[in-house]
Amino acid sequence: MKTFTSMHEYNHEEVIFCQDRDSGLRAIIAIHDTTLGPALGGTRMWPYKSEDEALEDVLRLSRGMTYKSAAAGLNLGGGKAVIIGDPQRDKNEILFRAFGRFVHGLNGRFITGEDVGTEVNDMVWAKMETPWVLGVPEIIGGSGDPSPITARGVYFGLKACCEAVFDSASMRNRKIAIQGVGHVGYYLAGFLHKEGAKLFVTDIHKDRVRRCVEEFGATAVDSDKIYDVDAEIFAPCALGAIINDETVQRLKCKIIAGGANNQLADEIKHGRMLMEKKILYAPDYVINAGGLINVANELEGYHREKALKEAESIYSTLKKIIEIARQENIPTGEASNRFAEHRLEQVAKLIRMHVISMPRQIRGERYAW
Ligand code: NAD
Repeated sequence: MKTFTSMHEYNHEEVIFCQDRDSGLRAIIAIHDTTLGPALGGTRMWPYKSEDEALEDVLRLSRGMTYKSAAAGLNLGGGKAVIIGDPQRDKNEILFRAFGRFVHGLNGRFITGEDVGTEVNDMVWAKMETPWVLGVPEIIGGSGDPSPITARGVYFGLKACCEAVFDSASMRNRKIAIQGVGHVGYYLAGFLHKEGAKLFVTDIHKDRVRRCVEEFGATAVDSDKIYDVDAEIFAPCALGAIINDETVQRLKCKIIAGGANNQLADEIKHGRMLMEKKILYAPDYVINAGGLINVANELEGYHREKALKEAESIYSTLKKIIEIARQENIPTGEASNRFAEHRLEQVAKLIRMHVISMPRQIRGERYAW
């Protein structure tokens, strides 16, 4: 892969290749855009088949983080890191501490946390070398499990969708099918049950389904039947790429809104297919931003109640995005990209004005750097 060509294509600011022979660390940190603030994004560990594959992934993911932060109204830019290695085999303290030192070398320009293939303990090792690591356990000053906040954001996003489709934000007697009742799905089911929704749930772990049946009176559904449930809302809270050529035809719902990442197998094609079928799709990176809002709160001194409240702002963000989609007659995914780009452009214009200590006052006055 031609690195500069790819950086140019996605418009990245900086890509850092990290190598440490003793620990075996091979990592790439990509900083996509810091218009709004320091680049924030998780660190993924994956046995990439090639360096090109790792680079492609980190460039794509870091760009996604720029959009996610911008749409969430955060003063953070987009970044991501990948460590090339097998998470089952290659993890050790020295590797993550070496990685932490590279992160520290960026002096707060990149802030990271867990992602696929990395976990809290790995981040605890990285944090020994740098303060620019978030999402560690509460006991050592972090924000802990983000999933209740993510679920809260999804719940409020769902309300915005219901208002747009049914002229009512109430969940009472709404039939909602949830795919995956792990962390996010379970908390979401709890919020919805409390408001009187009728739940249909599936999970490959039967004990997780049973918990929802017992606690929330949910109806258990086989994993491969969840797309056929006669529900008004489908909430994907498990895997990515579950909206594809096959499932779009099967879905009977009017709304797709859930916490899973990368729900559309093909963003453009399936976004348009859903629009044609008159199914309202809540763009995943907008509706599941509660986790990001949660860790961003750590930068200001963490308060769970405040993070929960802030995640509720996903309601008004989604309402604006749905409005853009309707006015412009475009899929909601395209509308959310425009919404994020608009904020980036507006702030980029604003920070051209020279003031003393501009970076602090404009970008991060609420933060401690
Ligand atoms: P989790 O692993 O706790 O829950 C996912 C659940 O989906 C598991 O219980 C799993 O058994 C189930 N599952 C997997 N394959 C399935 C299938 N084919 N059919 C039915 N169920 C299946 O993960 P989570 O933290 O709840 O995250 C769920 C999704 O939300 C993921 O896509 C994640 O990337 C995304 N997300 C999570 C957060 C967060 O705060 N945890 C934030 C943003 C996005």
